[in-house]
Amino acid sequence: MAIGAKRNETRGCRTSHRGDIAIHVAKTDHGTPESLVPAIIHAYRTRNLQPDERTFGCIVAVVDLYDVQPTDRLHDDPKARLNMGLTAAAADAELQFGEYERGRFFYRTHILRRLIYPVPCRGYQSIGWTVPADVEAKVREQLPKVFRLQCCSCGEPAPAFQQWWNRDAGYGICAKCFAKWVAKDGLESATECCGQPGIHHSL
Ligand SMILES: [Zn+2]
Repeated sequence: MAIGAKRNETRGCRTSHRGDIAIHVAKTDHGTPESLVPAIIHAYRTRNLQPDERTFGCIVAVVDLYDVQPTDRLHDDPKARLNMGLTAAAADAELQFGEYERGRFFYRTHILRRLIYPVPCRGYQSIGWTVPADVEAKVREQLPKVFRLQCCSCGEPAPAFQQWWNRDAGYGICAKCFAKWVAKDGLESATECCGQPGIHHSL
């Protein structure tokens, strides 16, 4: 999740927490399935990244948890996958890196912020800000400001680190509408009008 290979976290139970959650790299690897190793290596390579052992036992990123859904919905409703943003290639990575059997839940996140300086913290599995205050301070001081813009096309939330110059104040574009724009006019045109994904939209 910290390198953007997946956005959903799958768990056995719900949570009522919404908002920022810290992404922690375990100190010891608790049995990554052998079958996943090629996909993990691929995810790092395609992002020009390498696993860094200095991050073991550290908080390395923060994401915003905005929705929790039962996995049953994906099994029961053929349209749910699309509605949940699980399309084509993205779906592959999400399904590969999560456990989507019936009876579970998937936590939907966005606004990935990777920390420049990983913050050591003892391992934990809970969701939400359950870290000591000094750890939280060291994480929070590194977080960039997020502008809660509104999508100029559909009116949905369109969080951004910066506003693109040719949008009215307070407006950006959401990831869904940007993807539609790309499909229609190509990436170059869409980027010219809306800015860079990951900076001006699609966080
Ligand atoms: Zn939109």
